[in-house]
Amino acid sequence: MSAADPQLRQEMRDLVDRICADFPDEYWRKVDAAREYPDAFVKALTTTGSLGALIPEEYGGLGLGLGDASVILEQIHRNGGNAAPVHAQLYTMGALLRHGSAEQKQRYLPSIASGQLRLQAFAVTEPVAGTDTTSIRTTATRRDDRYVVNGQKVFTSRVQHSDLMMLLARTTSRDQVSKRSEGLSVFLVDLRQVSGMTVRPLDTMVNHETNEVFFDDMEIPPDTLIGEEGNGLRYILDGMNAERILIAAECIGDGRWFVDRTSRYVTQREVFGRPIGQNQGVQFPIARAHINVEAADLMRWKAADLFDADQACGAEANMAKLLAADASWEAANVALQSHGGYGFTSEYDIERKFRETRLFQVAPVSTNLILSYIAEHVLGLPRSF
Ligand SMILES: Cc1cc2nc3c(=O)[nH]c(=O)nc-3n(C[C@H](O)[C@H](O)[C@H](O)COP(=O)(O)OP(=O)(O)OC[C@H]3O[C@@H](n4cnc5c(N)ncnc54)[C@H](O)[C@@H]3O)c2cc1C
Repeated sequence: MSAADPQLRQEMRDLVDRICADFPDEYWRKVDAAREYPDAFVKALTTTGSLGALIPEEYGGLGLGLGDASVILEQIHRNGGNAAPVHAQLYTMGALLRHGSAEQKQRYLPSIASGQLRLQAFAVTEPVAGTDTTSIRTTATRRDDRYVVNGQKVFTSRVQHSDLMMLLARTTSRDQVSKRSEGLSVFLVDLRQVSGMTVRPLDTMVNHETNEVFFDDMEIPPDTLIGEEGNGLRYILDGMNAERILIAAECIGDGRWFVDRTSRYVTQREVFGRPIGQNQGVQFPIARAHINVEAADLMRWKAADLFDADQACGAEANMAKLLAADASWEAANVALQSHGGYGFTSEYDIERKFRETRLFQVAPVSTNLILSYIAEHVLGLPRSF
């Protein structure tokens, strides 16, 4: 199968559409209101093998390219769903595939591909360090035949519904490394085997199953270390382009969902004896939102194609994420405005999707960080932090 096979991509879209047909708006509305993890949806999607899309066929995965995988996430959002409960497995897979040992891959990839194990938790963000990842304070200290982890993470999503967790921790203190980016390491923690970890759920405006996580002398074996000790930040940064492209795809799905729903609504809703969509004051913002979503999609595909061709794509991946997140947010605003008061009621699902797509301006990477990347690394402007 070619990584850029249009027929394959259409098959992936059709597959996700079929799954999503069993999980209509009412399902997402209900889990959102109850702040429940959408377990039935995740199980159904897992049976299709989609969550092992990036895992090579030799380990039982689909062996697809990133562009193909991005279609899966896009299509969940295109159907009004939310890929947040499942997307981390695709976001984080690169670290294991590129930097994991043969033994780690053999141990975990077949079970992740078959759906027996979930790799859905990614613990990087900390309360004090925030965006400044090199300032994280969680430490993993080597003691004889184990590492002992102490510290705290925040916004660790899906940790209560995952078997495995990628953890970034400092293994050499900041004053003992020449560069602040050194001395950080990534661990693939088997959550089924740990003690000394406490999870405290956070209440947020989106149904995201995100948590504070506290480590109090949590012991993990040395074979949980991914790659070389001290190089962890590089491995995390390595995966950023994939993450940005996948988020862009989710935003494109959201943007198209908003434009479709809104076009339908303004055609049906009659005020002053005619459809509100007959007024150009209502039409034009929808048309503009559509244009911006489609333009962002071009950059998403440029980035995805470069990624799948193993070419540098940092600029394109970052631009795709920013353009797509802005386009979906614009489409969300247009949708809310066009629905009048009904947009605020949960039964139209606009307010839920509005909240969900707003997240992409902040997480997993904030708009300012993207702008700063482009300013510094693409335009060569002076480094600001
Ligand atoms: C629902 C949700 C789920 C999440 N899931 C995960 C997860 O699974 N794993 C994980 O590790 N993290 C997760 N995050 C964390 C997310 O990645 C961070 O919230 C995000 O990276 C921003 O960090 P912060 O919240 O500490 O903001 P801060 O770093 O405090 O930044 C606040 C604001 O200031 C801006 N800012 C900061 N420094 C600068 C600067 N130098 N120049 C310009 N602007 C600046 C930022 O862009 C941001 O807008 C999640 C967050 C949310 C809300």
